Amino acid sequence: MTFGVFNETSEHESRVALTPDIVTRLRKSGVACLIESGAGEASDYTDEDYTKAGAQVVDADRILARADALGFVERPDDQLVARIKPGTWVIGMLGSFTDADYIEALDKHGVTAVAIERLPRQLSAAQSMDEMTSQNSVMGYKAALVAANAYGSFLPMMTTAAGTIRPAKVLILGAGIAGLQAIGTAKRLGAVVTAYDVRPASRGEVESLGAKFLELGLDFSQGQGEGGYARALTPEEQAQQQAAVDEKAAGFDIIITTAKVPGRKPPVLLTARGVEGLHRGAVVVDCAASELGGNVEGSAIGTHTTKGGVTIIGAPYLASEVSTTASNLLSRNVADILVHFIKDGALAVDPSDEIDQAMIVAGNKPAAGTKGE
Ligand code: NAD
Repeated sequence: MTFGVFNETSEHESRVALTPDIVTRLRKSGVACLIESGAGEASDYTDEDYTKAGAQVVDADRILARADALGFVERPDDQLVARIKPGTWVIGMLGSFTDADYIEALDKHGVTAVAIERLPRQLSAAQSMDEMTSQNSVMGYKAALVAANAYGSFLPMMTTAAGTIRPAKVLILGAGIAGLQAIGTAKRLGAVVTAYDVRPASRGEVESLGAKFLELGLDFSQGQGEGGYARALTPEEQAQQQAAVDEKAAGFDIIITTAKVPGRKPPVLLTARGVEGLHRGAVVVDCAASELGGNVEGSAIGTHTTKGGVTIIGAPYLASEVSTTASNLLSRNVADILVHFIKDGALAVDPSDEIDQAMIVAGNKPAAGTKGE
């Protein structure tokens, strides 16, 4: 069994899907590793580190010729897909919820595609494969740092000879994996933190971190949907939520949004009206920003300042900015997914296995799998 990893080419990507310590782990499971020269450089892993760990550092052509499975942080672009030999397995964040054409192209090309975004995260057997959890934790941590960096004052209360500075008031919208890390990090920096999530279960988690839960005066007691995720709110509920959040937001200096609903356009939590209500110098970090829009109306990937002096940072790629650790965690997740599919020394699908049914979206699809959106 040979596993290959390329240098990720997308502009914002500094992570790599295989780190040297995971090479050692995979070798113990009988997997030989090929890595493209320079693939780990942006995450501070050198070719020499990989060689020492027992991987072969080669060029992309050698990987394409010899690997049985390929691992990606994101997914191979169309040109690379065309060069992958049929029968190869591809493991990555394939965008299967939103890009059916791409998955169909993989299927036609004859590769077996394993979509990480479809991992049944609630299963205990899936915990160590959960890239969404590992990367969202990194993202939430970094979001608080990015916000603090862009904010023109202190986060903690500071008493100086010239007077006392009040602590920053931070609001986190979406208190899942990323949001909880953002709460913890903002609190460690000394801010006064409030958070909100539509899932009723999140109140206890927010409060256990010493943050306040934002009272919107709305009843979303059915806010939790399938698999422990938030359900999409109805348009009416969404309008009520937006009006309430917009009003409350005015009292905060920093707002970090992390709210997503898997496979759907992120819900708008803070409208343009809410942004207008923020004071000059306020900072908004929208971790859900995407080409489809984000949690903040008018946010886009990158940084801009509104006429009212509010800095809006659309930041979906923050995990990539903590690339050494993010790569290491992600690499563990990808390796555990790979090992899950190795049966008697070869890659195989078990049609009765829940993980296999959920994640295989092209190629060897189990009959019960690929629940399309
Ligand atoms: P995510 O990244 O999909 O969403 C982030 C957060 O946004 C979630 O907490 C969600 O409830 C919230 N959100 C969505 N729509 C919202 C809205 N309109 N208003 C306010 N908040 C909204 O999710 P995630 O952070 O990866 O995980 C979500 C939950 O799933 C967490 O509670 C997590 O603990 C749980 N989870 C469970 C397992 C498991 O069972 N093993 C594994 C992973 C995650």
